[in-house]
Amino acid sequence: MTRPMWINGEFVDGTSGEAIEVVNPATEEVVDHVPAGTVEDARRAIAAANEAFPSWRSTPSVEKADLLHEVASKLRSKAEEIATTLTLEGGKPLIENRDEMGWSAACFDYYAEIGRHSRGRVIPSIEASQLSLVLKEPYGVVACIVPWNYPILLMTWKVAPALAAGNTVVIKPSSVTPLSTLMFADIFDALPPGGVNIVTGAGSVVGDELVTSPDTHLVAFTGSTAVGQRIAALTAPLVKKVHLELGGKDPFVVCEDADVDVAVPGVAWAALLNAGQVCTSTERVYVQRSMFEDFTERLADYVQTLRVGPGMDPTTDVGPMARAPYRAKVEAQVQDAVARGARILTGGRRPPLFSRGFYYEPTVLVGIEPDMEIMREETFGPVIPIAPYGTFDEAIELANSSVYGLGANIYTNNAVYIKRFYEEVKAGTIWVNDPLTDNDAGPFGGMKLSGMGRELGEEGIEEFRETKHVHWDFSMEKKGWWYPYEQYNRESGYLEE
Ligand code: NAD
Repeated sequence: MTRPMWINGEFVDGTSGEAIEVVNPATEEVVDHVPAGTVEDARRAIAAANEAFPSWRSTPSVEKADLLHEVASKLRSKAEEIATTLTLEGGKPLIENRDEMGWSAACFDYYAEIGRHSRGRVIPSIEASQLSLVLKEPYGVVACIVPWNYPILLMTWKVAPALAAGNTVVIKPSSVTPLSTLMFADIFDALPPGGVNIVTGAGSVVGDELVTSPDTHLVAFTGSTAVGQRIAALTAPLVKKVHLELGGKDPFVVCEDADVDVAVPGVAWAALLNAGQVCTSTERVYVQRSMFEDFTERLADYVQTLRVGPGMDPTTDVGPMARAPYRAKVEAQVQDAVARGARILTGGRRPPLFSRGFYYEPTVLVGIEPDMEIMREETFGPVIPIAPYGTFDEAIELANSSVYGLGANIYTNNAVYIKRFYEEVKAGTIWVNDPLTDNDAGPFGGMKLSGMGRELGEEGIEEFRETKHVHWDFSMEKKGWWYPYEQYNRESGYLEE
């Protein structure tokens, strides 16, 4: 069976008749199929979104808010079903996917309210007879291109503010996890047809068309830096607005005053959540030298107690990785580090318990050098490389020693360290004793090669609004500064009295 796409409020098959297999990472079995969408399919969806735009844009904000709240409530009622599907296609433990559904529903509720809060402002005009309005307007059709690691949450961070701002959207889910997104057809049917459309297919086909079409007006993308760079290049000649949420290589600094009983499980969770496949996964740990040995030994002991298994098993802490090539990349980076002198304290292999599934044991590495690939390239897997540091200056320098700048964590209660850390570390999010939390009201996004633009918070809706300045004079009178210039005093340049 092939699950249909969702275009203009209807379930539709792909025009090519070809299908993409969706595989269960825990068993390697095929779960289902989705259409391999074509350029033609993408165009149908873009046309539907353009047709729906004028009416959605002029729908009163309070009505939009009601509809977005309805989306949130429908999502809550289908949460268990979607979370289960997401575990079967993406591998993440069910408990984590239940959280993802809850956060996504809360985000729709948040933007339902933010969207009706304001649509611009009145500014002082330059003459008494005038009104100057700063209007915030929707762009039109937004292409939302989403990765597989948090497919529902990251889709929501785009779709909820885009709709609240009056845009219509076309969503392209990742081909790794399209099934859970397609289940939103029964949720988005709360909205007018064409307001939201879902097209499955390859990034190089459907994605490219969404990016380059003259009939999409903004591209909101979350994914790898390489694809983000390609999208930026493709959209540059079109001067199309892009919003890019890209890769990361987040540091975690553990200071000498940290409570090791908290820091050990905190670092492990920040690095291993979703098998390390979080854009803000901790991928570099720097521990003050005086506690390095104690910390690393206790971390390795703790990591060994975590249970690796299928995401549907409620006793599982760390599920399989999403696909074989992602695991192969992790294996290559660990092998490279070991070949160059790193030491594995635990993990570093596929768990012998499973003959199938894309499992990789949570791994702790020491003997790390800054120029190893595992300290420079995004790993996106369950690996914790740890290095010691001496002075706090050194810790900051190490934290900044990356081309990425998504998030950065620190464990300390030293106020001087904390202030220096949040001021000097170049990252979009700083977590102090609070690894990897989100807040719908707080903007999220990257610096450097981790992206541009922000999701969530008031910034998150501003990304989907274009600014227009209206100059309005109530009096229809000739202005004193028009022609003929003869009326001006040649010396002073001011009007002759
Ligand atoms: P990816 O870049 O391979 O794919 C992301 C999406 O882009 C998918 O839907 C894919 O089909 C599509 N795509 C691929 N090629 C395209 C093209 N030429 N044109 C248009 N679309 C195209 O990323 P992924 O493997 O799905 O996700 C993992 C990456 O996402 C990691 O690098 C991770 O750090 C990043 N990520 C970033 C954030 C963030 O908020 N910064 C959040 C989650 C994941």
